[in-house]
Amino acid sequence: MPAENIIDLLASSTGPTFSVEFFPPSDDAGVQQLLGALEALQPLEPDWVSVTYGATGASRYKTFSAVGALRGQTATSLIGHLTIAGQSKSDVVRAIEAYERLGVTHILALRGDPPRGESFVPHPEGLTSATELVTLIKSLGDFTVGVAAFPDGHPESTLELDAEILLAKERAGAEFAITQLFFDADAYAAMVARFRALGGTMPIIAGIMPITVPSQIERFASLSGSGMPAAFEAQLRSVADDRARFREVGIELVTDLCRQVIAAGAPGLQFFTLNRSTATHDILSRLRSTADALPA
Ligand SMILES: Cc1cc2nc3c(=O)[nH]c(=O)nc-3n(C[C@H](O)[C@H](O)[C@H](O)COP(=O)(O)OP(=O)(O)OC[C@H]3O[C@@H](n4cnc5c(N)ncnc54)[C@H](O)[C@@H]3O)c2cc1C
Repeated sequence: MPAENIIDLLASSTGPTFSVEFFPPSDDAGVQQLLGALEALQPLEPDWVSVTYGATGASRYKTFSAVGALRGQTATSLIGHLTIAGQSKSDVVRAIEAYERLGVTHILALRGDPPRGESFVPHPEGLTSATELVTLIKSLGDFTVGVAAFPDGHPESTLELDAEILLAKERAGAEFAITQLFFDADAYAAMVARFRALGGTMPIIAGIMPITVPSQIERFASLSGSGMPAAFEAQLRSVADDRARFREVGIELVTDLCRQVIAAGAPGLQFFTLNRSTATHDILSRLRSTADALPA
C-alpha cells in the first residue's frame, strides 16, 4: 500500500498529527541506533517520519542511505529534507531525482546554513532561496513540498519579513510548514497569526525538541533566535545539578509546551528525536493520557 499523502493525513486526522525527525547516521552503529529508535517509536504510530539533509557532500549521500534503510523498515509516510547551500542547480536536480527513485514524494525545501560565523552566499550556479527550491521541485514532478517556519524569527530576518517569505513559499507551491524548535507557545501562535493575516493558509506543524540534559540549555541559548522564556529556563536551571530530576522537569515542561501549542491550534507536532526514542515516547504518552490527547 503506498504511503499516505501527509496533507490528506492532516486533513483527515481527528486531532494533531504526531511525526518524528531523524538525521542520517554516519556509521553502521548509528544506523542501528536509528532503526532501533524507529522500532521503539512504531507502536506510537507516527503519521510520518522525516530525514534531514546533510550540510556537506558526504553527509548528503548518507541522507539517501538513511531514507533507503527506513523505507525497508516502515510503510509510514516519509519526508526527505533538501537544501540548496553549497550546491549547483544541477546538483539539486540530481538530489530530487534521487528522492524520486527512492519513492519519496514529500520534500521539505530548505536553504541550509553557511558554515558557523559566515554569511550565506549562493553557489555561483545555484539557487538563492528556499522559495526558488519550492518552485524547482514543483516543476520536476508530483511532489508535496513543505518548508521551514520560525516562531522566534529567522536569525537573518525580521518577524514581518519571515511571514512574507512564508507566504511567497506557499504561492510557489508549498503545502505545509514545519517550525524550528521553540519553547514559547505564544511565539508560535503569533507567528501563525502574522501568516494568516497576510492570507496564508497552509498548516504549520510545531517542531518540538525534548529537553533531557542540562547542556541543552546553553546550546539553545546560543542558537540565535530560539529564546527560552525566562521562567522555563529558570525551572531547568534550578535542577541542573540533578540529572534525573532535570530530565523529569524537562520532559514535563516540553509536554506542557505541546499542550499549549495544541490549544493554540497546532495541526501537528513534529519531534526532533536526535535518533533516540525514550524522550519522545515519554512526552507522547503523557499527552495521550490526558484530555488534550493526540489520536492514538
Ligand atoms: C523544520 C526544519 C528542518 C530543517 N532541516 C534542515 C536540514 O535537513 N538540513 C539543513 O542543512 N538545514 C535544515 N534546517 C535549517 C535551515 O536550512 C536554516 O534554518 C536556514 O537558515 C533557513 O532555511 P529556509 O529554508 O528558511 O531559507 P529561506 O526561506 O531561503 O530564508 C533564508 C533567509 O533568507 C531570507 N530571504 C529569503 N528569501 C528572501 C527574499 N526574497 N528577500 C529577502 N530575504 C529573503 C529569509 O528572511 C531568511 O532570513 C531546517 C530548519 C527547520 C525549521
